[in-house]
Amino acid sequence: MNYTTLLKEALTLSPEDQAKLINDLSKVSLKPDYISSRREQLLNKQIGCPHCGSMKHYRFGKDKGSQRYKCNTCKKTFTEYTGTWVAGLHKKEYINEYIELMNQGLSLDKIKKALKINKKTAFDWRHKILSSYRDTDKENFAGITESDETFFLESEKGKQQKKRTPRKRGGKSSKRGISDDQVAVIVTSDRKGTMDMTVSTMGRITKKNINDAIGSRLSKDTILCSDSHVSYKGFAIDLKLKHIALRSDLKQRVKDDIYHIQHVNSIHSRVKKWIDSSFQGVSTKYLQNYLNWFKVQENHKNSIAALNEMIVRSLKDCNALIKFRKIDWYYTKLITTQ
Ligand SMILES: [Zn+2]
Repeated sequence: MNYTTLLKEALTLSPEDQAKLINDLSKVSLKPDYISSRREQLLNKQIGCPHCGSMKHYRFGKDKGSQRYKCNTCKKTFTEYTGTWVAGLHKKEYINEYIELMNQGLSLDKIKKALKINKKTAFDWRHKILSSYRDTDKENFAGITESDETFFLESEKGKQQKKRTPRKRGGKSSKRGISDDQVAVIVTSDRKGTMDMTVSTMGRITKKNINDAIGSRLSKDTILCSDSHVSYKGFAIDLKLKHIALRSDLKQRVKDDIYHIQHVNSIHSRVKKWIDSSFQGVSTKYLQNYLNWFKVQENHKNSIAALNEMIVRSLKDCNALIKFRKIDWYYTKLITTQ
């Protein structure tokens, strides 16, 4: 059937069915294809050499079925996958479908069944993809910027516990107050929706922790809203920021009608709910990855747009594999702050 006859047929449908057809077609055409879009971007010089970033690369034969390139600047060769989360994967034909199922929120068991891959592979792919969102989305905050920390109980989910007596999921820490078996996550958001979630330290945060998380992304026009925590005060003084400190001890929720930290507090409760209901808690080691995932979803209420962003961003990051292999290193660094 050619296009003209297809169009004629389509025009015989009822107006409702025509609308449905247009809607379904737009979904199909929006569905991104990992492999071909990365290939296209390399050919169009939208992606640089993974070694030095230069756009002066050219096609240079094949490597086990993958297109190989040579860089004219650093003279190194690379393939279309070098450094990305896809490098070295067998079963590349499942990549698009995998991300789609992941984006639909399917469990690892269901993905395993649907794609006939083993659970370890399904788990590794998830974290390779999520590693590619680490440190790649760091635009500056503007105007009123809220920041507040929240705590997750340290968890070794997935690992057999030998020394510790098992604790009920989501249980209370046995220590009083904010103890060093709680993971501090600093959440920051401006009113335009730029957001950051950083797994920061064990226990209470310091002004250095805040600075490491967001210090380089604030500007002179920032109005920082936080609680009256001494670390935020010190951080704001060091950076010479206008600072509005809400006194939670006095139940002060809003100042001058516009200054509050209700957006970040709402993010705290949404992300915890999501992690509990979708994954029944996550291991501290992978917490940053899940926060990265949550952020992509927050940016897009529409699941196709989220899918697009997941694919486009994961294919751009040539450091994804390194970051994936450093997960244990990040974790050791975090728990040694205890
Ligand atoms: Zn190069």
